[in-house]
Amino acid sequence: MSLLRCTFCGRRAVYNRRYAGTLLCDRCLVKSVERQFRRAIAKHKLISPGERVVVAVSGGKDSVAALHLLVEHCRHKNCEIVAITIDEGIRGYRDRSLRIARENAKLLDIEHVMVSFRKTFGATLNKIVRRAKRKKTGISPCTYCGVLRRSLLNQAARELEADKLATAHNLDDEVQAIMLNYVRADLSRLHRLGPAYSPKEGFVPRIKPLREIPEKEVAIYALLRGLKVHIAVCPYAGGIHSEIRDFLNNLEANHSNSKFMILRMFDRLRPKLAGATPEFEMLRCEICGEPTSTNVCKGCQLLQGLGLKRWEKLLFPTEVRTESNEKPRTLYHD
Ligand code: SF4
Ligand SMILES: [Zn+2]
Ligand SMILES: [Zn+2]
Repeated sequence: MSLLRCTFCGRRAVYNRRYAGTLLCDRCLVKSVERQFRRAIAKHKLISPGERVVVAVSGGKDSVAALHLLVEHCRHKNCEIVAITIDEGIRGYRDRSLRIARENAKLLDIEHVMVSFRKTFGATLNKIVRRAKRKKTGISPCTYCGVLRRSLLNQAARELEADKLATAHNLDDEVQAIMLNYVRADLSRLHRLGPAYSPKEGFVPRIKPLREIPEKEVAIYALLRGLKVHIAVCPYAGGIHSEIRDFLNNLEANHSNSKFMILRMFDRLRPKLAGATPEFEMLRCEICGEPTSTNVCKGCQLLQGLGLKRWEKLLFPTEVRTESNEKPRTLYHD
């Protein structure tokens, strides 16, 4: 059997980039992912020198790869990186990935902050799901998890005085989110998708430096660089998210480049969505004080339905917010 060769350097190929009609060796794939990452930062002006960037790290391949790329980038650009991990409390799944997130932060010598559902809402996601079943709310685990995690990430990043909140959404994640919002006809959420989003007061601007890199390439990149990552599927995964992912993967298998085309088309339409989404006044949630467009934020509405309540402040130790010569360590918010 003849050996497949890298289109660029002739070494043994490890990856067939079907959408571009090229084969890549290990070195060219690593270089290409790093180039795409740098290009996204430069093109969308995602990070400026001197900024404090909080990176959401679950311990999975995408967030670990994003963390390593951002730390390397920021070492040259005089930025500060703080890793943050939200512990939703999913037994047998999140506990393992937390360990990996912590090990990566230690390896990179950066501050690592952990915020847990249990301490903030008085219940793990496991407990929330059990209560939701008992109360027959009909709300999926992913809705509780997604709404509460996003809200906590923003609150934590704001309290840590971050200039940017980086998440590791890759091309597949972004295209899935686009399709999901089409299916749900959610124009305002659709409008918020993009490489960078600077929302209203109270929200930390979010950036997605891996947004144009396919999931498979991020996974192979993490593998080739020998990064320590957690590989497992959440026990609650499923539902419409999985159906959309399978649909997109089938589409891509039969019509290569489909995911990129969906993203490109969306990026062309996105500026036009601004006028189509209703303007709303930014309020403070009556319960937790977080910014919201309604009197009570979505997170508190979900918690109220289960008889739970959220803390107003996460109360981080002050060292996280100040210049310190101490060795970085993992900090819990209590
Ligand atoms: S699959 Fe759902 S429940 Fe599991 S981590 Fe993702 S959003 Fe949370
Ligand atoms: Zn090569
Ligand atoms: Zn609230």
